[in-house]
Order: sequence, then structure tokens, then C-alpha cells
Amino acid sequence: ENAVTKLNLENSHREYARAKSLMPGGVNSAARAFGAVGGEPIVFERGEGPWLFDIDGNKYLDYIGSWGPMILGHQFPAVCDAVHAAVDRGTSFGAPTVAENELAELIIEAVPSVEMVRLVNSGTEATMSAIRVARGYTGRDVVIKFAGNYHGHVDSLLVSAGSAAATLGVPNSPGVTQGTTQDTMVLEYNCVEGLGQAFAEHGDRIAAVILEPVCGNMGCVTPSGEFLAALRSLTEQHGSVLIFDEVMCGFRVARSGAQSLFGVIPDMTTMGKIVGGGLPLGAFGGKREIMQHVLPAGKVFQAGTLSGNPIATAAGIAMLKSLRDDPPYDYLEKISDRLAQGLSKSAADAGIEHCVNRVGSMMTLFFHPGPVTDWTSAAKCDTEKFSKWFWGLIHRGVYMPCSQFEALFVSATHTEEHIDQTIAASRDVFESWT
Ligand code: PMP
Repeated sequence: ENAVTKLNLENSHREYARAKSLMPGGVNSAARAFGAVGGEPIVFERGEGPWLFDIDGNKYLDYIGSWGPMILGHQFPAVCDAVHAAVDRGTSFGAPTVAENELAELIIEAVPSVEMVRLVNSGTEATMSAIRVARGYTGRDVVIKFAGNYHGHVDSLLVSAGSAAATLGVPNSPGVTQGTTQDTMVLEYNCVEGLGQAFAEHGDRIAAVILEPVCGNMGCVTPSGEFLAALRSLTEQHGSVLIFDEVMCGFRVARSGAQSLFGVIPDMTTMGKIVGGGLPLGAFGGKREIMQHVLPAGKVFQAGTLSGNPIATAAGIAMLKSLRDDPPYDYLEKISDRLAQGLSKSAADAGIEHCVNRVGSMMTLFFHPGPVTDWTSAAKCDTEKFSKWFWGLIHRGVYMPCSQFEALFVSATHTEEHIDQTIAASRDVFESWT
């Protein structure tokens, strides 16, 4: 089962060559280009449960899950049925629908900090809009973000960003002007002292603090209780808006997100990925008092031709109802713990320095003894070892995130057998090195 197979990727290579002449780098999102691990991306045809099938007929156990949305596996029946039904009523109206109310109610019921919500088309739009609202609401300019956290390709937040920005070593993207980022302060994640100092010096200028309350974009990194407590008390004290970017961890680490897991309630929350069931949909929400500043209730501009799109909304409703009525979280905790322990042991038995960070079904095997608590420690990882491990797994039918600085995701369709198969593949890769 786990013997190294020389994969035939002929069709993938051909299509990728074609793609490169059509799209920059042959892809529509930098994160999927395999830039960090060397080599060419695989081109896919179909997903089913925990499996991905490429265009050469190879199949892989998928631990990317579309970078988060596929918490219930590919082709989850309730989501697919809802999408089919929605298509038959029309693809877009640019006008109110009942489904938007339903999805808004499901989000508000699930996420403690959200009293009002607006639907958008991506996680990037959600964070971009939340920042604008926080600035409009407070009448202040400065936004604090943390090194290694990624909030989408919002210009003002593309400073020391994680994910593809970290992977590709582009701390500040060309095209992002100094003017755009001069009101962004970058601090170290989990550093209570730095946060205290920033507020002591600039407290009355800080509009918002935005963070991933479970970080996935420098690999999986968790906040300390002390850090979370400081974030909440300092923002409250200084009248700044605390924004949890739960695009990745929302509906993932718990149905009600990291905020429920940690019992720390922000003023605003941004969402994406799972909330749209795998279709392009994001959302931002928060206290009624803040959200009433959004146009047309208030004056902070926000709009979107396809916002609240009926197909994406139908998928989101089906997804959130399934997570509410048949919660996968206990099961995900159990098999994710099994995977984390198994991967760790596979490395330990081969004498490879590593550590594993995990919250629920998000985790990262870091090629560094750790602890990995911030970008400084994450950046010390042996990314060459990671790449070798990644390709070893690809050739054993396991599709892991293609960078050390991404979290892997387990879905509810991964069985113990799939997990054990993955651990055996990892063990086999490490054994082949010695
Ligand atoms: N915030 C976080 C925490 C994310 O992980 C991402 C995407 N990985 C985004 C925002 C941006 O979302 P999108 O790619 O949908 O624009």
C-alpha cells in the first residue's frame, strides 16, 4: 500500500505548462503553486470525501481541503443538493433573498461576538471591510497586526504576512505603497510586553487590533491565555476594536470558533472558507453598535454585486445547518489527535527534530524542536526537510499543504484507517531518509 510509486503526472505537467502561458505562475492563487517545495503543482479533476483525484488518475488523501472549507469532505451531500436546487432558481439577482436572512441567522446564532453581519465574497473582502469599519467607527487610523498572521491580500495588511507571503519571502509586496502601510503596526504574536508597549505609546491612535485567534498561516500556532487576556483588556481600556480573523479557524476549531473555545469575545469577527461551504463567500460581523456604521445603515462604504449570492448562500446554509445538527467536532478531535501523535512518533522514531502544534482539526508538523509560538520561532524550521517530507508523501498518495507555513486540515470523512495510512506513509518517508 505504502510502497513508493513513481507517480505518472504526465497530464498534470502538460496542463501546468499550458497554464503557465495563460496565468501568472500557472495558477490563480499563489499559495497553490508549490513554490515553497519545488516542483510543479498537481492538476485535479474531482474530490470525494477525503480523496482528491488528479487528471492522471492518481488519488490522494487530502489534508488541504480547499485550504479549510471542506470540513465535511468533498461532495458533502447536503451542500451539493442545496447548490443544485439553488442553481435551478437562478444564479444571481443582486437583490435581497430569504436565504440571506437564514444564513445571517445561522451565523449570529453560532458566533458569540456577532450581533449583525454582512455577507461578502471572500475572506479578503471580510478583513478589508472590517478594518474600514473599525477605522470609521473609532475615527482612528492605526491598525495592529501580528507577524506571520495572514488576513488575505488587503494592501494595508500585507506587511509581515503569513501563508504564501511568508512562503515566498515577500514581507512587503511590491505595489503596496508605504503610505498604505504607514498606519499598520506589526507586533510579535504572543508577545504581551510588545502589545502593552504599543498601547502605552499609541493607545489613543489605535483603531483596531486584528489577529488569527488560532493562527494557521505561519503553520498552526496557538495564542497563550495571557496574550488573549491582554488583547481583550487593552483594546477595551483604550477604546480600540478587537477583530478576530476567524476565516480559517471559524466553524473549524469549534462551531462557534476560537472565541468560544477560549472564552474571549472580540468586538468584530471575520469569516470565510467553511461559512460558504466551499463556494466564494465571506462575512464580517460584530457588535450592533459597530455594524450600524456600515452603509446604508451608516456611512462606512461597503457593497458587492455578488454579495449574498444565492448559490453561495445556499451552500453556506446547508453547511452551517449540518455543523449545528450533526456536529463533527468530537470525532474530529479524536482522529486529529491520533494523526498528531502518529506523525510526531513517526518523526521521533527516525530521530528527526520536530514539534506538532494542534487545535482540533488544524495542525502543523514543524521541522524544529520548538516550541513554535510566533513568527521568529516558526521561521527557524528546516524547510528543506519539510519539502522532502511533502514530496515523499505525495508519492505515497497523501496530499499535505505545500508549505511549512500552512496548517493541515482533517475532515469528518477521514477515518481511523485513513489516518493510520497517513502515519504509515510518513513513517515510510522518514525511514527512507536513513
Ligand atoms: N484570513 C485568514 C486567517 C485566512 O487564512 C485567509 C485565507 N487563507 C484569508 C483571511 C483570506 O481569505 P480569502 O483567501 O478567501 O480571500
